[in-house]
Amino acid sequence: MRCISSSEPGYDVTSPDAVYNFAAGPGMMPHEVLLQVREELLDGQRSGMSVMEMPFAGEAFQAIQQQAQQDLRELLGVPADYRILFLQGGASAQFALLPMNLLPAGAKADYLDTGHWSRKAIAEGGRYVRINVAASGEAHGYRRIPAQTDWRLDPEAGYCHITSNETADGLAYHWLPNTGMVPLVADMTSDFLSRPLAVERFGVIYAGAQKNIGPAGLTIIIIRDDLLRRARPETPSVFNYRVQAESNGRVNTPLTHAIYIAGLVFRWLKRQGGLSAMAERNRRKSARLYDAIDGSGFYACHPRAMDRSPMNACFHLADDALTGKFLQSASAQGLLNLQGHPATGGVRASLYNAMPEAGVDALIAFMQAFALRHA
Ligand SMILES: *Cc1c(COP(=O)(O)O)cnc(C)c1O
Repeated sequence: MRCISSSEPGYDVTSPDAVYNFAAGPGMMPHEVLLQVREELLDGQRSGMSVMEMPFAGEAFQAIQQQAQQDLRELLGVPADYRILFLQGGASAQFALLPMNLLPAGAKADYLDTGHWSRKAIAEGGRYVRINVAASGEAHGYRRIPAQTDWRLDPEAGYCHITSNETADGLAYHWLPNTGMVPLVADMTSDFLSRPLAVERFGVIYAGAQKNIGPAGLTIIIIRDDLLRRARPETPSVFNYRVQAESNGRVNTPLTHAIYIAGLVFRWLKRQGGLSAMAERNRRKSARLYDAIDGSGFYACHPRAMDRSPMNACFHLADDALTGKFLQSASAQGLLNLQGHPATGGVRASLYNAMPEAGVDALIAFMQAFALRHA
């Protein structure tokens, strides 16, 4: 990543490779995008204003928002009968807003329990709908994504909710569930835009931006048109998908600066060759790291190989007492924020789109040296 000393006039940008941030969220941003934000901070789009000073209903910001939407639509291949919303509140707000927008009180929904974040979605969603946990990874210690043949779907469920990537447990779906006519809903907060996606297989996709897209707070919703008319009357207008879609996100002041930055990330992704190129790069990064872990005899992964996340590699040291020392030494070498989620412990290396392959190589070199020193 980078080392930027803001005490120097004009900023002193040292080698972008000086520091690698493996944080799970907010996560690493593309260096190029940060440079562009800095470049344009005082004068966005030659308007003489910062983007954050632009009136949100004015032409200049509208152009930015439309461009961001269009770029995202192209990147993901979002079909014409889906709307893209840029809302506020983060993914956790959607745990409640989804059921409010999709189903009446007392209705039923299927949820898959695959780890920390799906448990959160279930706990919060359960305040609004009757939840059937169609399958749970708990019995296996969250080492795997339950195969669809083991799911017990409720025939009366109004939707089926999955967490495509379990950020804290290091698990991911490498296949798409088939839920027939029941809309498939996915929390994609930690792997959105990491790989191509068959959007048409989903009813709703949502993602908080701070893992793989942009600044925290911004929340992206992609929803099929026919699901827009179901919100409960008491749903707050600013969180009502239909009301937001009809006003093009202008029910209240949108997250203007965050939308602008997400737009720059979409552009950056296009310049990288789009999502197939990102998926290939992400696959290389995670394969290299998992191979190093598996071949070490010193580090070990909890999730089984076929369900491991390309985004969040969760592992531990054979001798757990060394974890603190590992994290400290890594940090001293510019490999930052490798601590596991507080609920799971151990080590977690988040390899979002912005993490260059050189960062993964630096981590692996450090891990091998550390293992040699402590074997
Ligand atoms: C981080 C995360 C969330 C929570 O996001 P907030 O924006 O903090 O609410 C939800 N789901 C997943 C999969 C996450 O990784």
